[in-house]
Amino acid sequence: MVRFTVLASGSRGNSTVLTGGRTRILVDAGLSCRETFRRMKLAGEDPDTLDAIIVTHEHQDHVNGLAVTARKLGIPVYFTEPTHRAWMRWLSPRRQMTYAQWREACLLQAAERRADPLPEAAESDTEDLTEDIASQPAASAAASVSAPPSDTELASSPRQAHTWLPAVEYFQPGQPFSIGDIGVDPFTIPHDAADPVGFVFSAEGIRLGFATDLGYIPPNVKEQLRGLHLLLLESNHDLEMLRDGPYPWSVKQRVLSRVGHLSNDTASQFLAQDYDGQAAYIILGHLSENNNHPELARVAAARALDGRPSLLANRLLLAEQHQPLSAIRF
Ligand SMILES: [Zn+2]
Ligand SMILES: [Zn+2]
Repeated sequence: MVRFTVLASGSRGNSTVLTGGRTRILVDAGLSCRETFRRMKLAGEDPDTLDAIIVTHEHQDHVNGLAVTARKLGIPVYFTEPTHRAWMRWLSPRRQMTYAQWREACLLQAAERRADPLPEAAESDTEDLTEDIASQPAASAAASVSAPPSDTELASSPRQAHTWLPAVEYFQPGQPFSIGDIGVDPFTIPHDAADPVGFVFSAEGIRLGFATDLGYIPPNVKEQLRGLHLLLLESNHDLEMLRDGPYPWSVKQRVLSRVGHLSNDTASQFLAQDYDGQAAYIILGHLSENNNHPELARVAAARALDGRPSLLANRLLLAEQHQPLSAIRF
């Protein structure tokens, strides 16, 4: 049986459980470990049966609970090497930034707090959950000013180190591989991270596409998102809400850029023009709580899908930030 359960989707945490054959993996670990386990149990999944975690990119809303969850379960984490290095730099206590970068990060975080107080912060295991977008200047500043970890550090990190993981496996975009019974086809996506990827997973003849956190949909991604049974597609913001919303100008520019996030319009344009109409399920994900409304995203996508030939296909669902979506079974 193939089972796909979105535990959370959005800038406060992303995580999905995928079961194929006898293998069960977590795609991103953006919730705290405790919250991940709580939601897995709510969704009828047993955390102890997870075999691995696979990471799309190093932004905090995708890795917040990564180290704690992997250590607690003693399972490997699959990254690209640049993503692993960026994640280690992010956690490294040697992380530094210039005064100007630090001040920009503080201003962004203050703006975020004013815009939307953070109810889940107390649940975090190791770090506070902060908005993906607000956390990025600090993370990318760190990446640009601190030296990458040396090979000796990579090879012999002590167990106590923040960055210690039970096992690390590297993959490369464009090179398919397997985790147990699940085939993984990673592809490059345009986003402001070290080496961000989307995935097509396959198991038991079922193909599931995973594309969130991308500024636009380039031809290679359009090519990948064909012949799917399920597609999780970003529908991050409504352009007008973003334009009139609370983010500082610099953050608005980043979200709108070609390495930012997909708008409802861009997602719909893909669904209307490029998508092959094959999937039984389309899940809209990574909706912004500040700059989108679920109904706006749903209506835009439904309109784009209107007139598709199959009545059975293209069931439209919206992934949520604060509760798991019911498991989708094949
Ligand atoms: Zn994200
Ligand atoms: Zn991101």
